[in-house]
Amino acid sequence: HSIFANILRAPEDPILGVTVAYNKDPSPVKLNLGVGAYRTEEGKPLVLNVVRRAEQLLVNDRSRVKEYLPIVGLADFNKLSAKLILGADSPAIKGNLVTTVQCLSGTGSLRVGAEFLAKHYYQRTIYIPNPTWGNHTKIFNLAGLTVKTYRYYDPLTRGLNIQGLLEDLGSAPSGAIVLLHACAHNPTGVDPTLEQWEQIRRLIRSKSLLPFFDSAYQGFASGSLDGDAQSVRMFVGDGGECFIAQSYAKNMGLYGERVGALSIVCRTADVASRVESQLKLVIRPMYSSPPIHGASIVSAILKDRNLYNEWTLELKAMADRIITMRKQLFDALCARGTPGDWSHIIKQIGMFTFTGLSTKQVMFMTKEYHIYLTSDGRISMAGLSSGTVPHLADAIHAAVT
Ligand code: PLP
Repeated sequence: HSIFANILRAPEDPILGVTVAYNKDPSPVKLNLGVGAYRTEEGKPLVLNVVRRAEQLLVNDRSRVKEYLPIVGLADFNKLSAKLILGADSPAIKGNLVTTVQCLSGTGSLRVGAEFLAKHYYQRTIYIPNPTWGNHTKIFNLAGLTVKTYRYYDPLTRGLNIQGLLEDLGSAPSGAIVLLHACAHNPTGVDPTLEQWEQIRRLIRSKSLLPFFDSAYQGFASGSLDGDAQSVRMFVGDGGECFIAQSYAKNMGLYGERVGALSIVCRTADVASRVESQLKLVIRPMYSSPPIHGASIVSAILKDRNLYNEWTLELKAMADRIITMRKQLFDALCARGTPGDWSHIIKQIGMFTFTGLSTKQVMFMTKEYHIYLTSDGRISMAGLSSGTVPHLADAIHAAVT
């Protein structure tokens, strides 16, 4: 008799569960548009050429050892990561106002930031957009923060509900934490314009709210690393505090290497260094220190001009392929005369399209067309190719007619 005989079976993760269902389907036309991972035009995972080159350099360097990294991770990686998101000539970096620690990809960076806030910040409420990446609620709840939502997406316009957003943040208690997607909002693909970011920034600063940026798609949205960092840089530029969680999963294709960074921008260098000392106490009992391989790849690429340039080209190619898929899907629906306005497919930004399809329509597409996506109607554009667009367009057409 097992001591765990009474344990209940947990439900699959709503996003990763889509892949589980996909893998079980024997159909030759099946299509996985659930997971947020880049695929080539041939539907294959992609290891960037620049990553292969960096790995080769690492392998050939016999002076490299497998010693533990410090608790905060690889020093070069941390410096270069802050520079990547804040800009090469960021005054905050020059003034030593930023503390950066290497974490386990975006998720781990959010979690360490959340743990730090739960322990050291007086406000325990965090506002996250509605909707948002499903893991946000769990990460912040588990760290002991109270999670509330602010209005973000307007299903009618399939765009931003800026009025609702400003109202909800306007009535948040002073000091509350606000989670913001730096770019390529997941799952909606809807980002504020620069003018709207400026409105949001002013409101956040006037109410002394604390911005916490989740930057999981820098460079992946527009193809430009600087372009996609503009929101963050606006907030850091005003001299106020700011948290930033960075992930290299998507923009370097390092998903399984689990490499990311948490930066905390402070008002003085002295505060920043004290914050860092406390981050160490958060990290040490959680996982002691981060893994070395992924961070070494990233810092090899970021510190070498040639590798860096090659990366930006490969990154742009990924972003461009996704933008092309948007265009092709939109054209295919127009060609079929599919009822409804589908222009949001080409307006939305980043890896995902929030189609507006209902759960029932999604279930129909999975059952009849073997197309797998999350029940909120989100499709990963990176999972599409020229060859599979017609099948998806047929399925959407059938689902809405
Ligand atoms: N934040 C958002 C909005 C995401 O979409 C993702 C990944 O899908 C992440 C964070 C974290 O991903 P990872 O932990 O793989 O870096």
